[in-house]
Amino acid sequence: MTEIDVKQCLKAVLTKVEQACQRRPAELQYVQPNLVAVSKTKPVDLIVQAYEAGQRHFGENYVQELEEKSTNPIILEKCKEIKWHFIGHLQSNKVNKVLGSPNIYLIETVDSEKLATILNKSWPKFGPPESKLNIMIQVNTSGEDEKNGAPPSDVIKLTNYVLKECPNLHLEGLMTIGRFGYDPKDGPNPDFVCLKNCRDEVCQSLGLDWKKVHLSMGMSTDYEQAIELGSTNVRVGSSIFGERTKKE
Ligand SMILES: *Cc1c(COP(=O)(O)O)cnc(C)c1O
Repeated sequence: MTEIDVKQCLKAVLTKVEQACQRRPAELQYVQPNLVAVSKTKPVDLIVQAYEAGQRHFGENYVQELEEKSTNPIILEKCKEIKWHFIGHLQSNKVNKVLGSPNIYLIETVDSEKLATILNKSWPKFGPPESKLNIMIQVNTSGEDEKNGAPPSDVIKLTNYVLKECPNLHLEGLMTIGRFGYDPKDGPNPDFVCLKNCRDEVCQSLGLDWKKVHLSMGMSTDYEQAIELGSTNVRVGSSIFGERTKKE
């Protein structure tokens, strides 16, 4: 395997994030987008390198990998302020493993009332007293059958459920993965536009401040465009850690 210079790659991504920020329209300048370094399939030493370069938010999408990495003695020793994002599909029977992972920060993939209910019920067993678990609602903006996420038409209802019935959850925002292989040259990515529209509808219908409902969208191939379209949380893997070889 060729050694990748994680620090250099991270720096390049941060520069591009900054440049994309400056291309945003004025009303989107209110917040600095958060960069999540997606470390799935990548070894602990690369995570440590990124952490030492200043990166704090990391994303994993397999429960077992999150569990292993978050409890790894080197990570616990060297990355004390790490903030883990769970970005994969979460089955009810795996909830305890994710919530029990040290430094779990945000579950980005809540897509049903059932999952929200279980997370809400389980969090007090894991989190500090009175704390809330950060979650995002995953939206299937592309309508593809194989994609997880709530359909856009259900987002208001699900958001309302989280706000009203899940006192142990804190709604951070909405998340989408979007269709694979969309070429940003073909114009604004419809998935990003859809997620932003979902956010606007949710905020209007439930009386929320849109600036407090974040948008998690954009990956290695399209995070710059996502930021220009209002993303406040980009999830970037291969541009930081190199291409993945293992099957996903
Ligand atoms: C793997 C993954 C990413 C990062 O993908 P890259 O193309 O490597 O940047 C982002 N979000 C989710 C949900 C992922 O599973």
